[in-house]
Order: sequence, then C-alpha cells, then structure tokens
Amino acid sequence: MRVYNTLTRQKEEFVPRDPGKVSMYVCGVTPYNHPHIGNARPFVTWDIIKRYLEQCGYQVHHVQNFTDIDDKIIRTAKQEGVTWEVIANRYIASYFAVMDKLNVRRADRYPRVSEHIPEIIAMVQGLVDKGFAYAVDGDVYYSVEKFPEYGKLSGRNLEDMKAGARVDIDDRKRHPMDFALWKSAKPEEPSWDSPWGPGRPGWHIECSAMSLKYLGQSFDFHGGGSDLIFPHHENEIAQSEACIGGEPFVRYWLHNGFITLNEEKMSKSLGNFFLVKDILAHYSAEILRFFIVSTHYRSPLDFSDERLTEAGRSLERLRTAVGNCLELNKVEHTGENDAAKLLHKSAVQAQAEFFAAMDDDFNTALAISSMFALAKELNIYYSAVSSGKSEHDAEAYAIARDIYFSMAEVLGILVEERAGKLEGGAGLINQLMDIIIELRQAARQQKDWGTADKIRDKLNAAGIVLEDSPQGVRWKHR
Ligand SMILES: [Zn+2]
Repeated sequence: MRVYNTLTRQKEEFVPRDPGKVSMYVCGVTPYNHPHIGNARPFVTWDIIKRYLEQCGYQVHHVQNFTDIDDKIIRTAKQEGVTWEVIANRYIASYFAVMDKLNVRRADRYPRVSEHIPEIIAMVQGLVDKGFAYAVDGDVYYSVEKFPEYGKLSGRNLEDMKAGARVDIDDRKRHPMDFALWKSAKPEEPSWDSPWGPGRPGWHIECSAMSLKYLGQSFDFHGGGSDLIFPHHENEIAQSEACIGGEPFVRYWLHNGFITLNEEKMSKSLGNFFLVKDILAHYSAEILRFFIVSTHYRSPLDFSDERLTEAGRSLERLRTAVGNCLELNKVEHTGENDAAKLLHKSAVQAQAEFFAAMDDDFNTALAISSMFALAKELNIYYSAVSSGKSEHDAEAYAIARDIYFSMAEVLGILVEERAGKLEGGAGLINQLMDIIIELRQAARQQKDWGTADKIRDKLNAAGIVLEDSPQGVRWKHR
C-alpha cells in the first residue's frame, strides 16, 4: 500500500509502526455551528480509509478531537447568553447526527480540550523547561527559532515568513511566527489555573497533548484538510517533536483537498458555504457521500447541483445491481455454465483492480470504476438467468455478489439495499416504476394516448426508457 505523505511530498510504501495495527489521529471540528460540506469531506474520507485498512486486516485505533474551547464558541455563547458548554454540546450533537446520516462510523475516542487541561499544561511546562517556550505576562509562546526544522511540513522557511509578517506584530513575541501555547484569561472567558496564572490553551497544543496521551509518542497517520497544514500541523510538529525528541511524531501526514463551488473556492466570506443539513434537504445522505468519494481525496472537489444529480444517477446504477442480486438470491442452483464462469472471472478481476486502486493512496475514484464494471457483469448475468437463457450457478454467483458487496462496504454505500431492506428488485425505484408503468398501461387501455405519451416522454427526460417485452413493459436507465 502506498500513501502520499505531505511531509515528503511523495507516495511512500505504508509500513505501520506496529505490525497489524494502525494508529490515526484526525483533527476534528470546532463545535460552534452545524457541520458544513467542508467538514463532511475529511470525515467521510477518513471513514473510508479506516474501513479499507480494516478490510486489509489491520486493527485501527482512531482518535479525533473536539476543539471545545475556542474564540468562536465563546463569541456564539455570548451572543446567545448561554455558557460555552451549551454551544459546544449542541454542535457536537449536531456533528454526530450529521455524520451518522453520512454513514461515518465513530472513532474510538473523541477527546475534548476542556477535559485535557492538565495534560496540556504539563506539555506547555515541558516546552518551557526545555527552552522551546517562554512566558510573557501570563501568556506562553512557542519560540519557532528554537526548532530548526520549523516549516518542514508546509515547505516554508522562517526568513521568508518573517519578511512576510505584518508590521503590527506583537512586540512581546521574540519572532513574529511565535505562537501561543497558553493565553492569559480575559474577563468573562472560561479559564483554568496554571503556573502562568489563569488562562486557556492556544489552539495547536491540544492536538499534540491529546495525540500523545492516546496514541503515544509516534503514530501512523495524521489527517485533516489541507487548510490545516499551516500553521496548525506545522505547529503540532514543532510542539510534539520538541517535547518527545527521537522518532518522528507522525509517520504519514495525509491531507484532503479543497472544496470548490462551481469551480470557485468555497469560503464563508464568499457566502457560498453550505451546511450539510441544508444539502440533505435536497439530496440523500448517501448521494452526498457517494459524491464525495467519487473524487480522489487529494483532488479538489467541485460542488454543484449538476454533480450531485449525476452522483445520484450513478448510485442508482450501482443500486440496480444490488436489486438484481437480491432477486438472484431467490433463484435455485441449476448448474455450472459459461455465463457464471464469465461472471466469476470478471468479479475476481474487478476485485484485484479495486484493491490496486485503494492501495494506490486510497484512490476511490478509480476503485468505483471497478465497482461499475462488476455491476454491469452482474446485471448481464441477471438478465441471462431471469430470461431463462442461462442456468444459475449459485456458488459462482455468490462469490461475485460477495465481492461486489464488500466493495460497497469499503465505500460505505448501498447499506439498506445490501441488507435486503428494500424489497422488489432494485428497491424503492422498482416499486415506483411498477406504479408508473401500471398507470401508463391503464391510460393506453382507455386509448388516452396523450397521457401515455406524456408519461413516456417525462421518464425519457429523466433518463429512463420503457421497453415492450413478451413479459410486459420493462424499464431501464438510458
Ligand atoms: Zn489538530
């Protein structure tokens, strides 16, 4: 398995620190609002990476934090006249509700900053003791000049950063890029006692302190959006490696790409920032998930109505194959035959291609194409068996079906269909199509050609074609 490491800017062979085990830390959300599309992408991505690692036999330990002490939370709490805990708890609940809908499985642990103040203070004290940090008037800053490798993740150097820094810098800092590890208390803000007086942690220190506590001094994957590379992850490296020394703090840094809206970068200032719950009012969570995984995680993801609609259509094609499998499950074994041999061969090939794509830096976009190839073969086989042209080889078919379902499991899609919850071939759409076809037949019997043609034309516009067959009217995707 090869993964792209942001630190070395190349794909590297993945070798876990401990054989058979994978430890990963993912930067979580700051719960001051409902999750937006930019939150959905990393968490769906990491869910799939985890599912795939598990399918490869690894035991995965996944830790993801909540930044529950933050300016934005404090501000929102003030505006609403409630405590910061109320805001944090409300939006943590919203995070879980949205991620559950997106079929993102839970991490093993969700540490919160507010519950790790002693660990954070101990780490800041350690950095002060070692000379990497200094206290000024109740604040503690990290001294970037003391860490010679500062800038190695983001590919920046201190001289350039100093030159680029704004003039109105804080003169209490020794270098403009020095960052706060501890901030002295301001009136009406939550604070905790510390050796430097009452205050609260800076943003970056939490991830160093909490990953150390739950994953140890060195772990396999650290993930997040590419907007976190600088300064957040750069600062995490400076803190953790100064503190522990020796082994690299993180073995592989993985970052997902940006989201664009109609090819324009999404940001709050442009007002094109979408909350997941608003998107889910128009599209199913499964379509949104499938849309996210249809693009490789490092590539930009362009968000538009057209693309979501397209994702919905593609998903429907994959769903049809599951529906056909559910039908085939009911057919009795009659014997070996050429169609089944071909299906078996195609399935094994599709599986090899799927694994190869996922082994190449979790290339879900390519992996999905092997899933489509297998869906097509399953549909061909289903037609051959259901039309009586071929015998049914239950054993060979079951192998192909299981491969297909395991691909869907890695991608976290077609869950209900696979569980057989949606009855009648391809599920709900088949039931609806039965109703529509029946209504059109009734119109034709009454010689109401206008209505019959209108139904056919509207279906056609939606990408569905009706065909007359000896068994009656059938439908298919165009
Ligand atoms: Zn973090």
